[in-house]
Amino acid sequence: MNIEVMMTIITSDSIYGKRKSKTHWCLIKCRRQFLSAISMLLCLIAPSSLFAEISPERILDGISILAHDSLEGRKVGSASEIKAASYIRRQFSSIGLDPAGTNGSWYQPLEFTERIDIGKENSLVVDGQKYILEDDFRPLKNSLNGSFKFDQLVYVGYGIEQDSMEHHDYERKDVEGKAVLIKRFAPDDDPHGPYANHASLDSKIAEALKRGAKGVFFFTPEGEDEDMPALRRRRVSEKDIPIIFLKRTIFNQDRPTPEALAQSEFSGNVDLIRRKNTGINVLGTVKGGKVGADERYVVIGAHFDHLGYGGKGSGSLYAGSDRLIHNGADDNASGTVGVIELARHFKSRQNDLDYSLLFITFTGEESGLLGSNYFVKNPTIDIEKVSLMINMDMIGRLEREEKGLGVFGVGTSPAFSKYFNAYDTLSDFKLNTKKSGIGPSDHTAFYNAGIPVLHFFTGSHQDYHKPSDDIEKIDAEAEAEVLEFIAELVDRFANGKDKLEFSKTKDDAPGASPRFTVTLGVMPDYLTEVKGLRLDGVTEGKPAGIAGLLAGDVIVQMGGYTIDDIYAYMTALSRFRKGDSTSVIVEREGKRIKYPIHFK
Ligand SMILES: [Zn+2]
Repeated sequence: MNIEVMMTIITSDSIYGKRKSKTHWCLIKCRRQFLSAISMLLCLIAPSSLFAEISPERILDGISILAHDSLEGRKVGSASEIKAASYIRRQFSSIGLDPAGTNGSWYQPLEFTERIDIGKENSLVVDGQKYILEDDFRPLKNSLNGSFKFDQLVYVGYGIEQDSMEHHDYERKDVEGKAVLIKRFAPDDDPHGPYANHASLDSKIAEALKRGAKGVFFFTPEGEDEDMPALRRRRVSEKDIPIIFLKRTIFNQDRPTPEALAQSEFSGNVDLIRRKNTGINVLGTVKGGKVGADERYVVIGAHFDHLGYGGKGSGSLYAGSDRLIHNGADDNASGTVGVIELARHFKSRQNDLDYSLLFITFTGEESGLLGSNYFVKNPTIDIEKVSLMINMDMIGRLEREEKGLGVFGVGTSPAFSKYFNAYDTLSDFKLNTKKSGIGPSDHTAFYNAGIPVLHFFTGSHQDYHKPSDDIEKIDAEAEAEVLEFIAELVDRFANGKDKLEFSKTKDDAPGASPRFTVTLGVMPDYLTEVKGLRLDGVTEGKPAGIAGLLAGDVIVQMGGYTIDDIYAYMTALSRFRKGDSTSVIVEREGKRIKYPIHFK
């Protein structure tokens, strides 16, 4: 699960109920009541017993290999990633899949930028005056490399075009072929306000590019914190213009205002060093045996990479100083083994299928959904034929009663809505559904390509992105049930059906996340339905951890804000700045406890 996008899943609607009992479920029932000879006998005479059963023992075996210390956390671009990939390849091959990677192989290699370093040759001269890197300016990591010279800039305020507020910063300003000077932030910073989708650097850069600007210079309005969070790696896509952040030291007596600054001549050079590495997706197919089965595909995927040894910028939430392996048993050895088990299951039913399946384990999810994005742009099968994409990310720790199984993307096809809206009464799974096709994992790339997606998730926890995400905490029995459930859904939506109709969901654009300048250091629980914000984890050394908040606490109040849900929490958090002190009230075991919080 990718940490940077965790905060964007916020549309939730829950379904409770009991699953319908059908012949198809016979095998699961059997496993649960394997002592009952009679039900076992009934199972054996049911047709589904010919299919490969999903096995908790094999799930455990697979996770114990992928999450073993010898695989060193499966970091994309490392030798251990290759070890993990070859394990998956051997499984695919022994099950009898056909290779579906590049040039008939099992693998799809992809090059990615592992790191962007600031080079030595960065310079900025304004009206003949030389400025100093970091003290006065810094190129943003999506900038074009090379020299630039602009006789003057066009000052466009916030650089926002917003219709409902009739806010038009570009009105009567021709910026084509020129460089623009843009103020950071927006007139108001309400994360659900009219400017929420317009305040990010990304959306401002996009607006400038749309109008043909040839350079973008940002500055921070007076009185605001000048710290610029490092551009999130997944958001760094190289643009073909220079993009530079100016510190306020650039203003002086001769040019005290942005209007005056824009009259100056700007020249200089950008030098960013993009360090490349290679990762690999692993792919295999099962072609359905019925006529026309190669006309429709179901993609079943999960990422197999994790955080390696953690460290700065890796997404690790481990605060200690020792270098520890992040085994990622739940995130996402659980999903990887899920792909392998489902491959085995569907291979055993190959002849009866009137659709085909592509099984894919993605690399580089933790570094910004690299593998899935690459596959969607460079598909090894005809992407037009993909009817449905199933993603599994963290499916090994089902909490039946409290959280249930997260099923995200149920709004991405009318067929899903119909089924999940009616899902009730007889089933024994509690589900927690969300409509959005955009989320912190690999299904997002497929949704963005217009493919209906379902993403499965058993919830976050205290061990999320920490070295303690280990096999002991995996519930393989429950994972087997989740996989049986997924297999049933694939049948329901693919077998004997036309290609699924796609529908767009009401999503938060990437720029929509509110502007947080502080962090509390908590892992919100996205699945449990409570009034308030329940915490799955608390990071040591961050404000909540220092104050004494614990996993399981429910935040109900922060400063003057009542916290009913994650929306209210995000709104409240976006209002605090570094150095602020406030208090939070949490509910813990029926008691309300108040803690002082200091944002660092
Ligand atoms: Zn993750």
